[in-house]
Amino acid sequence: MTHTILVTGGAGFIGSHTCVALAQAGYEPLILDNLGNSDIRVVDRLARITGRAPRWIEGDVRDRALLDRIFAEERIAGVIHFAGLKAVGDSVADPIGYYENNVHGTWVLTQAMEAAGVRTLVFSSSATVYGDPERSPIPEDAPCRPANPYGRSKRIVEETLADWQQASPGWRIVLLRYFNPVGAHESGLIGEHPQGKPNNLMPFVCQVAVGLRDKLVVHGGDYPTADGTGVRDYVHVMDLAEGHVAALRKAQEAPGLLTLNLGTGQGASVLDVVKAFEAASGRSIAYEIGPRRPGDVPAYWADPALAGRVLGWQARRGLEQMCADAWRWQQGNPRGYE
Ligand code: NAD
Ligand code: UDP
Repeated sequence: MTHTILVTGGAGFIGSHTCVALAQAGYEPLILDNLGNSDIRVVDRLARITGRAPRWIEGDVRDRALLDRIFAEERIAGVIHFAGLKAVGDSVADPIGYYENNVHGTWVLTQAMEAAGVRTLVFSSSATVYGDPERSPIPEDAPCRPANPYGRSKRIVEETLADWQQASPGWRIVLLRYFNPVGAHESGLIGEHPQGKPNNLMPFVCQVAVGLRDKLVVHGGDYPTADGTGVRDYVHVMDLAEGHVAALRKAQEAPGLLTLNLGTGQGASVLDVVKAFEAASGRSIAYEIGPRRPGDVPAYWADPALAGRVLGWQARRGLEQMCADAWRWQQGNPRGYE
């Protein structure tokens, strides 16, 4: 029997790639998305990749009546919960809006799942829950001190899901802390298309390479790192997608709550990314060193060993492939799914 997995936020960047991995692993993804930050034309692209368009429902995870209807009408084996807001700057400007969507949304979903007897949940958390870590690589038991409302919204969800699992031990919950997801499916048919000026490094570099922006401003060249620029753990979105399938399988094995980092374990600086992207694209990336971005952490990367031991998962794709795949998507789709 095919297992149907409800994928909230499944039309978005990581969710759409996870729909590919789910379909390829024999699951049937059912997308629930309010399209606040995505374009439903992604489903046609998913059909081209997997041979079958996923079913989808336009709606909001905070809509309890809608969730009750979905759980009543469908046989849902588990939920992967991506739906949420993710821009750190916006979360500082509108903290209540962020808590409303990310925290309250997860609570509504959890209560609807409990009422329907669906007790398998994989949740999108983030390495931002660690804040400015004491050291890298960061293991999962490092202290969590999120530095902004977005990070706190993820941490609150983590803590309340842990309380929930204690209260209802039949639940199977995996909290996945992503490091820096980048790249695109190797087909170049799906990828990340930020609205407006990108905040994140890789989409910005892509837009410089394709001529949409003049130059990259490197946020700080005087950090205590090898070349002075910020260091992050970039992880290919398809590795991440496969990590979700592994997490789902693990959750289906036994009740409990697991918290796992998904990263490569390797740090790359801003200039490492620029060089790798130039090599992958054959284009030169103009940049200038600007001031530090407020709130940025100098350097951090994951200790992904636990995900390796527990899930048998490890990132397989390196920085070169992340850049090559991001570039293929960007070149083929300079205006996203339009
Ligand atoms: P995204 O914005 O591309 O995808 C999120 C999707 O959720 C969008 O399609 C959006 O329309 C939808 N959505 C938002 N609120 C909703 C709601 N209330 N009801 C229904 N749908 C809703 O973002 P992404 O990069 O794919 O991120 C997915 C998840 O992973 C988010 O929870 C994000 O916080 C988390 N995450 C992302 C990153 C990253 O750098 N991309 C890093 C760590 C964690
Ligand atoms: N960065 C940069 N210029 C940009 C965007 C990002 O120099 O236009 C740097 C940023 O300071 C950080 C790294 O690139 O060191 C990754 O930033 P991003 O916003 O992609 O992810 P973060 O780790 O901050 O969530």
